[in-house]
This record gives sequence, structure tokens and C-alpha cells, in this order.
Amino acid sequence: MAFLLTGACLCGQVRFEIAEPPLWATYCHCTRCQRRTGTAAAVSAKLVPGSLKIVAGQELVRSFEPEDGFAKDFCGACGGALWSRDPADPEAKSVRLGVLDGDPGIRPSARQFTAYAAPWEPIPDDGLPRFAERRTG
Ligand SMILES: [Zn+2]
Ligand SMILES: [Zn+2]
Repeated sequence: MAFLLTGACLCGQVRFEIAEPPLWATYCHCTRCQRRTGTAAAVSAKLVPGSLKIVAGQELVRSFEPEDGFAKDFCGACGGALWSRDPADPEAKSVRLGVLDGDPGIRPSARQFTAYAAPWEPIPDDGLPRFAERRTG
């Protein structure tokens, strides 16, 4: 059976499909993820480039594009986070796990940017490898 994962933003107007199993998932404790989500950490899954297709609401997708680093795409109607996007390769995306409808199969396998972790929530003692900066393995 062909792999197919679906997802949507908070208001449901942006919908998308992922046609290949995600590669891996990572908790991110960076300051930008804290700011954009209002939480201590965000979890995203690295996708096979080109495997995500928007099926509804393309015109609603907005983006925060910092001068350094990945663009953060979100729904302009509800503000819901969708995925990050490599500015050098728009097909290279990491989807936010919370926007998926079903089970992506993979589980978060590391924590990155732990040097910037929120002071008000201890990093869970879950045995996952921790990277002070960006995940490198
Ligand atoms: Zn929305
Ligand atoms: Zn982050």
C-alpha cells in the first residue's frame, strides 16, 4: 500500500499530503521555536524533498523568512505552524508533527539547540541524544 500522510492547519483551510515516510524527527529548543509556538520546544520531521504537496489553501500560506536559517511557513488565516523550508531548496521541508492527521511512523530521536532551552521547563530525561546547537547526527 502506498504511503500517504495528510495534515492540516488549525482552521483546516490549508491541507497537504506527504507521499513518502519522513526521514527523522527532532525536538527543537531554539529561541525561534519558542517564540513562534509559545512553548518550550517544537517537534518537526525532516521530509524527503518534494514529498509534500499542498492540496488546499495554497493562497493562505504565509512565511516568516529570517535572513539566516530556514523559512517558517504558517497559515495566514489561523496562524497555525505548518513546516520549515530551506531557502536554498524550497522542496526541502520539515513538517511540524502536530499538524499531521495520522501516525508518521517515526518518533523524535534527538533534541537540538538545548543550549537555548527555556529556563522554566526541564528538558525531559528521555534518553534522547542532545545537541547544544543544531542536530548533526
Ligand atoms: Zn489555517
Ligand atoms: Zn527551532
